Amino acid sequence: MANRERILLSSPHMSGNEKKYIQEAFDSNWIAPLGSNVTKFEKELAQYTNSKGASLTSSGTAAIHLALACLGVGKGDSVFCSSFTFIASANPALYLGAELTFIDSEPNSWNMSPQALERALCDASLENRLPKAIIVVNLYGQSADMEELLEIADLFGVPIIEDAAESLGAEYKHKKSGTFGKIGIYSFNGNKIITTSGGGALVSDDEEMLSKAFFLATQAKDVAPYYQHSLVGYNYRMSNVLAGIGRAQLEVLDERVEKRREIFQTYYQELDSIEEIHFMPEIKHSKSNRWLTTLVIDPFMTKITPFEFMDKMNQANIETRLLWKPLHLQPLFKHSKFYKHNERTTAVSELLFKMGICIPSGSNMSEENQLIVIEEIKKILVPDTQGEVLWKKVQLS
Ligand SMILES: *Cc1c(COP(=O)(O)O)cnc(C)c1O
Repeated sequence: MANRERILLSSPHMSGNEKKYIQEAFDSNWIAPLGSNVTKFEKELAQYTNSKGASLTSSGTAAIHLALACLGVGKGDSVFCSSFTFIASANPALYLGAELTFIDSEPNSWNMSPQALERALCDASLENRLPKAIIVVNLYGQSADMEELLEIADLFGVPIIEDAAESLGAEYKHKKSGTFGKIGIYSFNGNKIITTSGGGALVSDDEEMLSKAFFLATQAKDVAPYYQHSLVGYNYRMSNVLAGIGRAQLEVLDERVEKRREIFQTYYQELDSIEEIHFMPEIKHSKSNRWLTTLVIDPFMTKITPFEFMDKMNQANIETRLLWKPLHLQPLFKHSKFYKHNERTTAVSELLFKMGICIPSGSNMSEENQLIVIEEIKKILVPDTQGEVLWKKVQLS
């Protein structure tokens, strides 16, 4: 094991201003899920994403739960969701007793396949059982092909919830990722591009929807002089202390995006000549935030599997992670329907899972540490080069 600190995938990166806003919360004694940090962070997030409004929550998962509830999802309803994602995209549908159908990825964006969605919606329409919502995930910072997906969803009149937990700060056709669906959600968990240590948000241009989300997030209190409740509610608001961290983090979001894109560029320049690997593509007219640099290892060109790769990197004290195991392959969802990108070939999400890996991409990763990662990858995939680093900037410095 290398004698240095472990190089992590993505760790919190504070700007320094966080304490100022936290101090404001203490000074005003608003140590509650109410206060000026919450109000201001909501306004600033809405401004940043160019949305009519934002509503802060205790987590991204809570935001998805509220979004589904706002769209009226209930027991026995159908919800469609990207298969290639983290479990949190789909769990909230289960909280509400809904039934999930999973949609495969397409090879260009690795996100939801428009052609698979179209087939799934056609079938559902024939059965007279259209979903109440479609959860489209923007994975690893890359927007899905929202224009095509929206066109299809609109045809059937089904609203889209954009799970932009990993794509805050990314763009698609010059608009912020997360602002294409009826509701978009973000996460501020510890490993995301910016963090409040834990938290999330909904954004929407539909202010009624946001008021409803707020109402449900605060125990669904009826308008009455006492505590009266007609609907089931939740305790899902973000605290004013954590919103203070969020405000300072939002100020540096664009810097964080640029840094992560730079990290990707360095990997790309150094490693793209290795024929055995392919990086996650960036679709046309989009700007990924490159939250995590991800790549696939071609099984026809090398015998090294992602498992062995991860194991070797681990021996060098470097954290890597396999790509998300598709949800339709999860034991939890073994009875759920699944629509493949192409009916006659292996599912794209399954191939990605078998071949792919995430490598360290934190915006606070040092240049030196990135070179160590590059060297190790070269040692594993092109053993005869001894991990020689060719990048010019290194030789200059
Ligand atoms: C992190 C994440 C979530 C959940 O966010 P939390 O804030 O951790 O609850 C949902 N979807 C995706 C794709 C994520 O990566």
